[in-house]
Amino acid sequence: MSPEIDPYLVQDMPYYRAVADEVELYEAAYSVRMPMMLKGPTGCGKTRFVEYMAWKLGKPLITVACNEDMTASDLVGRFLLDASGTRWQDGPLAIAARFGAICYLDEVVEARQDTTVVIHPLTDARRVLPLEKKGELVQAHPDFQMVISYNPGYQSLMKDLKQSTKQRFGALDFSYPAHDIETEIVAHETRVGVEIAGKLVSIAERARNLKGHGLDEGISTRMLIYAGSLITRGVAPLAACRMTLVRPITDDPDMRDALDAAVSTFF
Ligand code: ADP
Repeated sequence: MSPEIDPYLVQDMPYYRAVADEVELYEAAYSVRMPMMLKGPTGCGKTRFVEYMAWKLGKPLITVACNEDMTASDLVGRFLLDASGTRWQDGPLAIAARFGAICYLDEVVEARQDTTVVIHPLTDARRVLPLEKKGELVQAHPDFQMVISYNPGYQSLMKDLKQSTKQRFGALDFSYPAHDIETEIVAHETRVGVEIAGKLVSIAERARNLKGHGLDEGISTRMLIYAGSLITRGVAPLAACRMTLVRPITDDPDMRDALDAAVSTFF
C-alpha cells in the first residue's frame, strides 16, 4: 500500500450482523469489481455493511457523504493556489481510483447531476477517470470499486438516478432487519439487555407501519441505538424514547401523541 491510501484502511473489524446472503454476494461482486448500489432507508446498516466489507476484503475505504452543494470538482479534484503557484489536489474519487480503494458515495442522488456523470466512465468497461482540468486520464487501479447508496423513498421525479446511471450497478436491497436480528444488533451496540432491545424494536415496528400514513420515514435502527444507549446510561426509557424515537421524526402534534402512546404501551 502507499502512504496516500494507508489512512483509509479499516483497522478493526466493524461489527456487522449479516441479515441474508449479502456478504457472499458482495464478495462475488467485488471479485469482478462490479460497481454496487446499496438501496434502503437511512439508518438501516448500509454504511456499516460497506465498512465491514472493506475490512473483510482488506481494501481501503473512502467515504463521501453527498449533498446538494457538492460539485464534480469536490469529487475529482481541483487546482489550489498557494505561495508557490497553483497545485493540483486530487479529490476523494481520484485518490480512490488512483490507489485502489473502495469509494463509497453515500446518498449520491443528493449531489448535483454533473457529479453522477463523472462516475460513468469509472463504472463501465473503461474504468477511467478523466481529470479534465488537469488534462489527465486516470486508469483505475485494479482494486478500485465504486459503491453508492440510494434511498428510493426520498426520490422525486426531479431527483432520481438516471437509468443510464442505475444500469451500471449491481444492487442490494437493505431494509430494517427482522425482529430478532435487529434486537441482537441494538443489544450489541448499546449493551442494553435483550428484553429492552426487543421492546425498542417493537416500538419501531409500529412506527414503520405508519410510513406513508403521516410519517415520511420509519424509526431506523440507528435511532434505536440512540435510545438504547441513553437507557444504558440510566435515562428513563420513556424519556429516552420520546427524545430519540418520536421527536426527531415528526413535527405533527397528533402523530407525536400517537407515537408517545405506542412507547407507553411498552415502557
Ligand atoms: P445507513 O448507512 O443505512 O444510513 P448505518 O450503516 O449508519 O445506516 O447504520 C446505523 C447504525 O445501525 C450503525 O451504526 C450500526 O450501529 C447499526 N446497524 C444497522 N444494521 C446493522 C447490522 N446489520 N449489523 C450491525 N450494525 C447494524
